Amino acid sequence: MAYLANPAETAGVLVRHDFHFQKKYGQNFLIDPHVLDKIVDGAGIGPQDFVLEIGPGIGTMTQYLAEKARKVVAVEIDDRLIPILKDTLSEYDNVRVLHQDILKTDIPEIVREENDGKPIKIVANLPYYITTPILMSLLEQKLPLDSVTVMVQKEVADRMQASPGTKEYGALSLAVQYYTEPCIIAFVPPNCFMPRPKVGSSVIRLTGYTDPPVKVSDEKKMFATIRASFNQRRKTLVNALAGGGVAEKEKTLAALAVMGLDEKIRGETLSVEQFARLSELL
Ligand code: SAM
Repeated sequence: MAYLANPAETAGVLVRHDFHFQKKYGQNFLIDPHVLDKIVDGAGIGPQDFVLEIGPGIGTMTQYLAEKARKVVAVEIDDRLIPILKDTLSEYDNVRVLHQDILKTDIPEIVREENDGKPIKIVANLPYYITTPILMSLLEQKLPLDSVTVMVQKEVADRMQASPGTKEYGALSLAVQYYTEPCIIAFVPPNCFMPRPKVGSSVIRLTGYTDPPVKVSDEKKMFATIRASFNQRRKTLVNALAGGGVAEKEKTLAALAVMGLDEKIRGETLSVEQFARLSELL
């Protein structure tokens, strides 16, 4: 089987299998080999690695991963792609395709079975309609993660890597930066996909912390504080937390005083370290 990462091979597979794209599954298949090189190199895949791929599509990136890694498990939701993957990946004996929704997949079980519970690499050209739920679920499950290297809508990558005080900075930035160190690897224009998406994309690598730089005793409380302050971005932090039922005004004012912060400060200027400290004080 030839490499699928070009328009002619991809179109050939689609015609041969009479496959029609399903909008509801966010199907935009990669057709540019340079982009695949960037993703696989950016993820640093080596011969010892176990890789979990989310949404293999017709197997374009799976081929590249299978050649570099020890083992690949690819989770695909669309039943019509399963026989296609059987065909396009027939030459690789180190790939297992699971016909499942990634949000319902028991990933810890896969990690135990395939990698002795040790940190794994996750690689994906993510379906844009559920990018944030997938990423949040991967992070919140506290999986043993070496890294997560994903293609996402450019704006979403920018939000993940945003610094405090910028307009892109929000709850997603803080969640990503609490669990991992983000690094945007490449911008990918719409003409690298079939069909072309309406928006530009970026590849971003999130490197999991073995020893997180920020520690909190109650993560739930910290993320509730973060959510409340960004739900009402225009309000001061004191008013946003009171309005969101997280803390009374006096309590937040006292905590801000201890931290040496202005009482009119807005949540969007606080770093992950400051949110952690604030939630401990509250
Ligand atoms: N990896 C392929 C590529 O780069 O050409 C396809 C990427 S395409 C953007 C996203 C893929 O994710 C599609 O194959 C789609 O069917 C699959 N997908 C969508 N939702 C999913 C879910 N909840 N669980 C698993 N796969 C899903």
